[in-house]
Amino acid sequence: MNLIIMGIQGCGKGTQAALISEKYDLDHINIGNAFRKNIAQKTKLGQEVKAYIDKGELVPDSYVYGILDDAISQAENGFILDGFPRNLEQLDYLLQKYTIDKVILLDLPDEIAIRRISARRNCVKCKKDYNLIYNKPKVEGICDVCGGRLVQREDDNEATVARRLQKFHQETAKVIEKYRELGLLYTVDADQTVDEIFQEIVKIIS
Ligand code: AMP
Repeated sequence: MNLIIMGIQGCGKGTQAALISEKYDLDHINIGNAFRKNIAQKTKLGQEVKAYIDKGELVPDSYVYGILDDAISQAENGFILDGFPRNLEQLDYLLQKYTIDKVILLDLPDEIAIRRISARRNCVKCKKDYNLIYNKPKVEGICDVCGGRLVQREDDNEATVARRLQKFHQETAKVIEKYRELGLLYTVDADQTVDEIFQEIVKIIS
């Protein structure tokens, strides 16, 4: 089974993708995380993509395809894509190379997304995601899993978030429309608890 999870930044798609990946034994392919890992390790790719990410721009497709193909080639039991495709060119690439069974859209108004993004934190060590509104750590500022320090992502600042939301409405919205036309799109209201959203997703997948 190959799935896509889509939605505006802050809609909770990373959290849901992780739950889906665990329940259905699918590889969670998160392009943004792969870039951040490269930036942290100061690889050549990381140095080349950093400026785009810092500004909230989409990274050029050629960098994205390498990461995508590599990750999919390692997925033995199917995958869930998180953060891809984000424009019509990426959609064409995906349609030509891979089969997708279902696309789940987590629907959320911009105002709520912005509030949630400002509450996002992740662990400097193991990278686990938290949210101070709906997915708090047990001890403030400390990762439940590894005890690492929790920080805000550099691109979660106001100006970059505004640019990322704009990109979503300009470019990714067209991908969503295409999947609607193809009859593969399932929409879930993302203004619910993590559990409620997950239960709806499980019904869709099953
Ligand atoms: P995310 O963690 O999904 O919010 O992604 C963080 C940043 O990585 C985005 O703002 C883009 O700069 C870049 N990025 C992630 N996925 C893609 C993609 N499919 N195409 C182009 N850039 C991407």
